Amino acid sequence: MAGKSFFIDTTRCTACRGCQIACKNWNQNGASMTKNTGSHQNPPDLDAQTYKLVRFSESVDKNGKLAWYFFADQCRHCIEPPCKDAIEAYVEGAVIHDEKTGAVVYTDKTREANFDEVKDSCPYNIPRLSEDGRIVKCTMCFDRVSAGLLPACVKVCPTGAMNFGDREEIMAMANKRLEVVKAKFPNAQLLDADEIRTIYLVVDDPKAYHDFAIASAASGIGRKLAMRRMTKPASRALRAMLPG
Ligand code: SF4
Ligand code: SF4
Repeated sequence: MAGKSFFIDTTRCTACRGCQIACKNWNQNGASMTKNTGSHQNPPDLDAQTYKLVRFSESVDKNGKLAWYFFADQCRHCIEPPCKDAIEAYVEGAVIHDEKTGAVVYTDKTREANFDEVKDSCPYNIPRLSEDGRIVKCTMCFDRVSAGLLPACVKVCPTGAMNFGDREEIMAMANKRLEVVKAKFPNAQLLDADEIRTIYLVVDDPKAYHDFAIASAASGIGRKLAMRRMTKPASRALRAMLPG
């Protein structure tokens, strides 16, 4: 499979949030209102100004040992993105699924889609609604990558946690690192690697990092939306047959 991919090695992440800030900077996104939730995570969730968020998660394992995990959350750029189907049930051409890179990029036409249905369709709970009605998320820094540059979040990462490149090279890098990490952490794993282009390496139960670290089974295209998709081409064909 060609195209690009990210490899996010959570074992190297120090939660400096350089990626989060670089993402805001490149996308000219403003600050988000925050609140103290008893965690260092800030802001509390992804939002229309925050396409990338370093999630902080504390847990205690069955041996009573404290674990503190960091998870740099962003769009997974799904190989077959259900959000594109959900949006384009309302408006054709609103999502670019770039052939060369595999990037899933929303356009301003997402204003015409139903946000709740789009959010429900995403297995990773990524899309957010902007104040001006657009649906927004990580773009894979499509403009930078098209110009031969690294995504902003990858460029600034000082520890090697964030990586980006050709799909085959990234998969080789991820599998090689997995083998090394497994020697110390037998539960180490790559998450949903065959389905997506943002591949995380974790050392524990993915849910210990974030509820949506792996694809949620509850997501998907609802019955109503599926019907809309099915009937849409037929209606268009019927319309074309009708006299103007
Ligand atoms: S690829 Fe670009 S838009 Fe996506 S999280 Fe990284 S900096 Fe943000
Ligand atoms: S992770 Fe969600 S928003 Fe990103 S491409 Fe997949 S379905 Fe769409």
